[in-house]
Amino acid sequence: MLDIRELSRRPGAQRKLQLSVPAPTDLGTDVFGVPEGSALDLRIRLESVVEGVLASGVARVPLVGECVRCLEPIEQALDVDFQELYAYPESGVEDDEASRLEGDLLDLEPVIRDAVVLALPFQPVCMDDCPGLCQICGARLADDPDHRHEAQMDPRWAALAGLAVDDSDDEGRGPSDDPR
Ligand SMILES: [Zn+2]
Ligand SMILES: [Zn+2]
Repeated sequence: MLDIRELSRRPGAQRKLQLSVPAPTDLGTDVFGVPEGSALDLRIRLESVVEGVLASGVARVPLVGECVRCLEPIEQALDVDFQELYAYPESGVEDDEASRLEGDLLDLEPVIRDAVVLALPFQPVCMDDCPGLCQICGARLADDPDHRHEAQMDPRWAALAGLAVDDSDDEGRGPSDDPR
């Protein structure tokens, strides 16, 4: 909650601030998200306008997850832009176009939560061209680009390998594309 008393009813007035706030619970998706309590660094611009207060800025959020191809842990920081009008109760601005000011307080959390969830990749990867895992033994192919199994290949796998040559589209993404 931000106190906007000094901006209230003074169109044109502005304030910039930087804050670090602890991340709320469940910020993110099952595969990629912000650990609860980790620091969100916010750069915020508050601008008093006729209808209320316009809040905009950037949230830098730490993300933790798992590569969907090779299952390697991923840690990344993501910068997420947000902007929201917080309207005075009597402003006539529709509820679906703006948030409401609660007295002199403005609640950024729902806005930042929506912006972060929208910005998250559905399928996080450790790197864009992650080759995933070996279909046979589960080794991480990025660690071992020359990885292969001919020498000790089971005859049943050898037969399948022969088939795979005919059927060579270049999906090349590894077993993680299977629904789990
Ligand atoms: Zn990966
Ligand atoms: Zn292997």
